Amino acid sequence: MTDDVRKDVLAVYATADAAVGAVAPRCDASGRCCRFTEYEHTLFISAFEAEILLDNAPFYEQPVSRDGCPFQIEGLCTARDTRPLGCRIYFCDANYQARMAEITEESLAKLKQIADAHGTGWHYAPLHHFLDAPRAARPNDHVGDSMTPPATRVPLPVVHHSGG
Ligand code: SF4
Repeated sequence: MTDDVRKDVLAVYATADAAVGAVAPRCDASGRCCRFTEYEHTLFISAFEAEILLDNAPFYEQPVSRDGCPFQIEGLCTARDTRPLGCRIYFCDANYQARMAEITEESLAKLKQIADAHGTGWHYAPLHHFLDAPRAARPNDHVGDSMTPPATRVPLPVVHHSGG
């Protein structure tokens, strides 16, 4: 990813963060949003988001199942700074669902515009698809370190289960 593309994608993150912040949906920090199968949803991300996430992600074991995110540890996100758009926008707060759909649509449209403008192509798939791709060793990949909690752990943006 070029610096220009990265800058544009991070601007989409900032706009989405601001839009979510303006609504301030309720979060019970249950961690449910990152346990996909258990709570019957799937986190789709673009190749842009995958690259930004994996550039700075903590070590994780492969293969990754579709059931949940390996960066959730003890209910907390260990990749919060570079988490994908869905993680930034998704909250279970019933009063926020309509706005959540709008912010999601707006953000995705902007990502697609970036792909078009830079001629990168568009690749969008469930999180585990990208996490299971072969990856080059990264500076923070240390086998055996996966039990070491990063210092930056913060509560997840999650709320109660709507009950279906
Ligand atoms: S919020 Fe963090 S732990 Fe949850 S799915 Fe996103 S990256 Fe993974």
